[in-house]
Order: sequence, then structure tokens, then C-alpha cells
Amino acid sequence: MPGQRSLAHGILKKADISMIELSIKTVNRTQAINITSQIDHAVRGKEGSLVHVYTPHTTCGIIINEQADPDVIRDIMEALDRMVPADYPYAHLEGNSDAHIKAVLTGCSVSMPLTGGALRLGTWQGIFFMEFDGPRERKVTVTLI
Ligand code: ZN
Repeated sequence: MPGQRSLAHGILKKADISMIELSIKTVNRTQAINITSQIDHAVRGKEGSLVHVYTPHTTCGIIINEQADPDVIRDIMEALDRMVPADYPYAHLEGNSDAHIKAVLTGCSVSMPLTGGALRLGTWQGIFFMEFDGPRERKVTVTLI
């Protein structure tokens, strides 16, 4: 059947996957940017049941957390600063090990359900792009499965 996945001998033979790439320009060294509306715009009304949001960089991350109170994301950024100080004598000569470590802690992707063409996020949840070594031009890939 068209548009339907089929499994044969344990191998995925066909999958409907669409991919959208977004550009994000950050303006500070560390910055949390709420990208919920961009992700929602990219997938709204489309067919699929899982949205994967991924960033292909080593010094930034993607998280889902509270967007209702902006103090929450501020507290998260400040907690990461306390846990991973920028001035620790790291080995990496580029001088941005704190950014690499924060990227490991946050992770580089999140996934969430899509139902009826709409993101199925919790009432208070938003999707945030986390910059740890800006300002830079960043890419975010949104894959709809
Ligand atoms: Zn580096």
C-alpha cells in the first residue's frame, strides 16, 4: 500500500520521512532560544506520528522544558554555568570545552509525538535551542516520521 511501512525479514523496506532544515542565528556566547513556533510551523498539518529535532553541532543542544515561566530556562542556563565553569583548565586547546560538555549534558536531539498534524507537547513544554559557544549560524534538522 502506498504510504505504508512494511517490514520484510526484519529490514525496513519503506518509510515515509520528510526532513526540513532550519537556520538559527545566535547573538550571544550562551543563549536559550525558544524554537517551538518554528518547529510547529514546519510540521503543522503534515502526516506523521513522530517529530525528531536534531542539531548537527558539538557546542549546542536541544531540550524540551518549561516555556511558561522564562525564569525556568534562565535557571537551567545558570545551573549549567555553575556545573561547567568556562575558566576550568580543560585540555582542549580551542578553549571551548565548557560548551562541548554542556552540549553533552543537554543532548543534541529531542523527539515528540505528532497527532492530527499538531505537536503533542505538554501544557508547559517548549522546545529550546541551547547555544553554548555563540554567536554562530546554526542548523536544526526537523525530521517527520
Ligand atoms: Zn572545541
